[in-house]
Amino acid sequence: MRSRLIVFLVFSGLLMSWGCRENEPSRAAADPAKLRIITTVAPITSIVENVAGDKINLIGIIPEGIDSHTFEPIPSDAKLLAQADLIIINGLDLEIPTVKLAEANLKRGACILSLGQRTLKESDYVYDFSFPKEKGHPNPHLWLNPEYAMSYAKIARDELSRLDPTNKSMYEQNAAAFLKKLEALDQATKEAVKTIPQNNRRLLTYHDSWPYFARRYGFQVIGAVQPSDFSDPSPREVARLIEQIRKEKVPALFGSEVFPSPVLEQIARETKSRYIDKLRDDELPGKPGEAKHSYIGMMLDNLTIMFEALGGSAEAFKKIDPSPVAGSHADYRRKD
Ligand SMILES: [Zn+2]
Repeated sequence: MRSRLIVFLVFSGLLMSWGCRENEPSRAAADPAKLRIITTVAPITSIVENVAGDKINLIGIIPEGIDSHTFEPIPSDAKLLAQADLIIINGLDLEIPTVKLAEANLKRGACILSLGQRTLKESDYVYDFSFPKEKGHPNPHLWLNPEYAMSYAKIARDELSRLDPTNKSMYEQNAAAFLKKLEALDQATKEAVKTIPQNNRRLLTYHDSWPYFARRYGFQVIGAVQPSDFSDPSPREVARLIEQIRKEKVPALFGSEVFPSPVLEQIARETKSRYIDKLRDDELPGKPGEAKHSYIGMMLDNLTIMFEALGGSAEAFKKIDPSPVAGSHADYRRKD
């Protein structure tokens, strides 16, 4: 009996932190103030901002331009997390230190919502060079696949509507407009892929953020340079990559702005492959308040750079407006 009680207590504790229980009474009716919501990486902040408009108080806790994989919150973040009604994370182990600090400070009735875990079943997780199975942490970059961004938006819409039913119709309206844009992005990507020669639909990147994107649009990720501890690759690994690139005639190597890589530059020089270090997975282009400072703005930039470098056309992306559907209202932090 006692052990059953313990199991129950442990289980209900888990529900409290991860579950965002369906039958939790809504707090908005009693409290007319805006919901306080914390998100983690900027693309997720932007997705939530599109759905919420100005109806919530939204802070993205991981500063833009910082490596989100090794980000450690500072002690004063505990206070912010303690005030939050909802903490929205990507999950799949991207934000372990932030989740730990959040769990230790979670206010009563608040919960942590993992968009990644709600979107993808474990059997569909990708493990690869930078995120090997033996380390136990799957590749977390779901949001670079617009299909999963749609799922993130729907989960955010449902959760906000549940916690704040007064603004439900607003959340639904915003989400519908945003989903329409994401569908246009998805369509444009499918169209634009056809302009890339079949043999060039291969990606070699420094930071391994594109496997879920690749799976949807028919690219092959032939390698990533960055080892699982986010250090630089060993000379042996570099030599192996150079050989692979020469053999497979990879047209371009993609680096990321967050991880400047002299090693990738060296590889590009030795293989005469083009080196482009402008892809981003968690830093939005432009400044907060600008139209392109958004999830869609980041994707349009990435895909234009990538598709042109691989010999395709980025024309299909030009018709998509990147601006947030209900304006810019989130508090994005910067590295500096
Ligand atoms: Zn990343």
